[in-house]
Amino acid sequence: MLGQRKLLQRLVPGAMHAFIFWGFLVLFPTIAIALIGAVDRRETLPWLGRQGWFAALVDLFCVLVLAGVVTAIAIRVIQRPARFEGSHVGEAYLILGLIAGIVVTLLLWHASRIALGWNEWPAGWSPVSRGLSHLFGSGETTRVLERVLVWAHVTIILTFLAYLPHSKHLHIATAAVNVWFGRTHGRGRLEPLRFDAESEADLRFGVSTVADLTWKQMIDAFSCTECGRCQDACPAHATGKVLSPKLLIMGIRDQLFTEGPALLTLQQSVATSDPAAGTALTPIVGNGVPEEMVWDCVTCGACIEACPVSIEHVDHIVDLRRQLVMVDSRFPAEAGTMLRDVERGGNPWGKPQTERAAWAEGLGVRVLEPGDPAPEVLYWVGCAASFDERARASAESTAKLLEAAGVDFAILGPRESCTGDPARRLGNEYVFQSFAEQNVTTLNDAGVTKIVASCPHCFNTLANEYPDFGGRYDVVHHSELLAELVRDGKLRPAAGDTQITYHDSCYLARHNDVRSAPRELLSRIGRPLEMARSGRQTFCCGAGGAHMWMEERAGAINEERVREAAATGAGTLAVACPYCTVMLDDGVRSSGHDLRVADVATLLAESLDRAPTHATEGEHHGG
Ligand code: SF4
Ligand code: SF4
Repeated sequence: MLGQRKLLQRLVPGAMHAFIFWGFLVLFPTIAIALIGAVDRRETLPWLGRQGWFAALVDLFCVLVLAGVVTAIAIRVIQRPARFEGSHVGEAYLILGLIAGIVVTLLLWHASRIALGWNEWPAGWSPVSRGLSHLFGSGETTRVLERVLVWAHVTIILTFLAYLPHSKHLHIATAAVNVWFGRTHGRGRLEPLRFDAESEADLRFGVSTVADLTWKQMIDAFSCTECGRCQDACPAHATGKVLSPKLLIMGIRDQLFTEGPALLTLQQSVATSDPAAGTALTPIVGNGVPEEMVWDCVTCGACIEACPVSIEHVDHIVDLRRQLVMVDSRFPAEAGTMLRDVERGGNPWGKPQTERAAWAEGLGVRVLEPGDPAPEVLYWVGCAASFDERARASAESTAKLLEAAGVDFAILGPRESCTGDPARRLGNEYVFQSFAEQNVTTLNDAGVTKIVASCPHCFNTLANEYPDFGGRYDVVHHSELLAELVRDGKLRPAAGDTQITYHDSCYLARHNDVRSAPRELLSRIGRPLEMARSGRQTFCCGAGGAHMWMEERAGAINEERVREAAATGAGTLAVACPYCTVMLDDGVRSSGHDLRVADVATLLAESLDRAPTHATEGEHHGG
């Protein structure tokens, strides 16, 4: 927060905000100095009020804050970025006007005191105020003006402070707290619901009204600056869907402001056992937040990454979904099919569990039976690579590479089932928890300690969410393990000159910081080219948040990403996620670009084979 790191990623608006913010910190003691000076013109804040260096800092930051205010107004009036659509722009002008008023009256007050010779600090330290002092004489008029200026300064400050709690600038008070409590690791983890909670107060089924918001969610809502950075980064918004993470948070905050008094009455009624109170609360979905917004989200986390005040939008969205799904039984019909398949068949593809290891036939892969000794590494294949034709090639390549490197590994075969991730992201926490408990029991009984997962969604669930259910394992992504094997010389790829662009999966690069291993592999086998949005700033393929099984409204996210990949000029689009494989291959087919989509494991295996390229998953190379 002090360094304004996230804001400074955009130079001009970042510098504007940094000037105002740092100015706020430096000028803070001048409030006390002005209050003392307003009451008694001969007094000032002990010690600090007489320091020349402090007067110099005040001069400097008054100018920088004014420059920041002018820049902020210019951005709104001249540049008019789309990210401000729906923000309270009028309120922003009022606040900017008050800030400008504070610094201008401060400078002029100091100038009038220098003109009168009343300055407690050496005037040479404050060149701006001294320059302005020439506007004043040294007679009675200036003495009156000095009083007028200090009281005008104090009045504007008090007006600002009184207005603050009712405006978006409440973030001045809450943002630091929000940043402090923001997640710094395990960002892909969702907070589990406690269905076994003993007290009714602790029993939550997500969020219906503002009374269900956690304290962090309330601070999130109060912290929004309406800057629109989240909206700019959101793939759903970029493709014309109703969802805007900014408007979603603003909607929750506005409802919290409107229904705050009723919420307090409700809490009082609970404390006094008066059942009559608190009935004025209304559901957030359908009031502050349109229902489409809740379903449009792909849980990619781009909004969280972009938000300068660490608002965690995905927690809000999933909590709203939890209420809709588990309490109101409201969800898109096609997502209901997926849920039914997971519940009945153990996977969202609706295929028999007995076919789960069919991809491994003839590869000599050990299928772990109950009572077998635990392997050094358990390969968690995941549903997509087990059942989807295009994603299977990645599992086959991974298995061949692990064999070639002499790794002691095995798969669970039919005893592996869905991690529960799609059900959880859709909002069905019941289904997720039953699968989590079942899988953790299987893994613990098998004595598993290390897992390699090729699906970033499985990876995220196993690494970040299963510890909440007693499953603690050393979980690595297949790209990390393969990069380690190449580094150790256990796999020796042949260098090539194919131009490859790599698509970072949101659940790998952004939620779990795995970015360098896939790139390390690709740099050994071809010539990597970066897309405009990569690493933590990656753009989703459109499959997360259970959208793999939902109809897409408005524009196609996968086509937008494929266009970006094609713009690099690369002929190969490398991925490290079976969902991305399927989605981007669909995007290539529907947009007609000449790109081959392939998993990094497949590309590595081909390089090792030194064999002519043959059809692999998602291949679409000249038909
Ligand atoms: S998680 Fe992704 S899709 Fe959802 S609101 Fe944030 S940026 Fe948009
Ligand atoms: S949620 Fe964060 S990024 Fe989005 S508008 Fe609010 S402060 Fe800006």
